[in-house]
Amino acid sequence: MSRVYNFSAGPAVLPEDVLREAAKEMLDYQGSGMSVMEMSHRSSEFEGIIQTAEADLRELLQIPDNYKVVFLQGGASTQFAMIPLNFMKNKVADYIVTGQWAKKACEEAAIYGKANVIASSADETFSYIPDLNDLAISEDADYVYICENNTIYGTKFKALPDTKGKPLISDVSSCFLSEPMDVSKYGMIFGGAQKNIGPSGVSIAIIREDLLENEPLEIAPTMLKYNTHVKAESLYNTPPCYAIYICGLVFKWLKKQGGLAEMKKINEEKASLLYQFLDESKLFKGTVREADRSLMNVPFVTGSDELDAKFVKESKAAGLMNLKGHRSVGGMRASIYNAMPREGVLALIDFMKKFEEENR
Ligand SMILES: *Cc1c(COP(=O)(O)O)cnc(C)c1O
Repeated sequence: MSRVYNFSAGPAVLPEDVLREAAKEMLDYQGSGMSVMEMSHRSSEFEGIIQTAEADLRELLQIPDNYKVVFLQGGASTQFAMIPLNFMKNKVADYIVTGQWAKKACEEAAIYGKANVIASSADETFSYIPDLNDLAISEDADYVYICENNTIYGTKFKALPDTKGKPLISDVSSCFLSEPMDVSKYGMIFGGAQKNIGPSGVSIAIIREDLLENEPLEIAPTMLKYNTHVKAESLYNTPPCYAIYICGLVFKWLKKQGGLAEMKKINEEKASLLYQFLDESKLFKGTVREADRSLMNVPFVTGSDELDAKFVKESKAAGLMNLKGHRSVGGMRASIYNAMPREGVLALIDFMKKFEEENR
């Protein structure tokens, strides 16, 4: 067996220990005689899996008691609709547009009400986070929306906007559990699991209780009402059982690493190795304003489309996979999530050094 270093933006690398554990339990989950995939979601075994997963997530993020946690389907993209359907009582919301995902969320909200773009970095291909001072928060906004880590462009909010008391809703798909967060600053946090947590198929939402007192829009389907899932503790219908199980194993793994403060240290160190190399390189260049750089997604270019293509091809042959950048930025992107070992980042830097020498 040979494993590559997988720099995919998502679905993405998972901790090898977790995959081994899942393999070990594949045919017989803890003496049940069956795989988690074959198990009733109403069984006591699965109840144990989902309840432990929630408890471990609560411990990792130190989620206050007045927040609910739900495991949902439909990817982060379904949340783009669920958020306005559940929370737009005044039919007004403010969006900070820092990339494709925030833009899509904003466009989805505009189907149901007025979605104001109160700040945007579209003018420079989303290569920075807009100035958050003196934002024109709408008086009747039901919430303020951000995408905290911009997977495609490699930017990250280093501070949160002052929402003037309006609930802040944040898409954290690509930075979920990469560092500690103060959950109490948010009305809601959500993300798809397949970037930094687990397999695709499950999204996790953490919602402050008072927001759940809102009456959803009349047209909201049962499955798209948060309270449907909150009241049934994520078991209203069949949940993505296996994906939740793997997320649970990742939570255990994160606890074993020392929790999120430790992950932050490790992630800062990995990212700084790569950024430092980019800053010193004569060939490669990062595409993001220094202050706004993500620890998770690192886009870079050579300045030549031909050399970029050559780099992607040769890196693949060297076992460094999925380094091609998103089509809207071009060049390359290295996603270095929690599960990417430091050795993977060092292997990438070594390869880049060699490539630079050969292509000067
Ligand atoms: C990938 C991604 C999404 C979309 O996730 P799906 O689960 O594919 O719907 C949304 N937001 C961010 C920040 C992402 O990285």
